[in-house]
Amino acid sequence: MVGVGNIYASESLFRARIDPRTPARRLTPERCARLARAVKATLRAAIRAGGSSLRDFVGSDGVYGCFQQRTLVYDRAGKACRRCGGAVRRIVLGQRSTYYCPACQPR
Ligand SMILES: [Zn+2]
Repeated sequence: MVGVGNIYASESLFRARIDPRTPARRLTPERCARLARAVKATLRAAIRAGGSSLRDFVGSDGVYGCFQQRTLVYDRAGKACRRCGGAVRRIVLGQRSTYYCPACQPR
């Protein structure tokens, strides 16, 4: 997901229940729509967590603050998935850490 910070990519894919390894070209229109809704929900949650505007969050990896402490999967490798209780997994995609739940985000 180009243009969306690491943390938002992981969180949004989890909300949309899409495996992060899915190539963009293989996303169906239905899954694309679900992902778009998930990105909006993730950004709204981030703003609620402490930012007053989108500008506070986009562009830098260092200003996630409170949001980072209540993520669904981001930075939670080995911890219990908040949805199913399974172990969250960390993989590296395009040299960036990506977090996901294999049970909630099946291939
Ligand atoms: Zn899960």
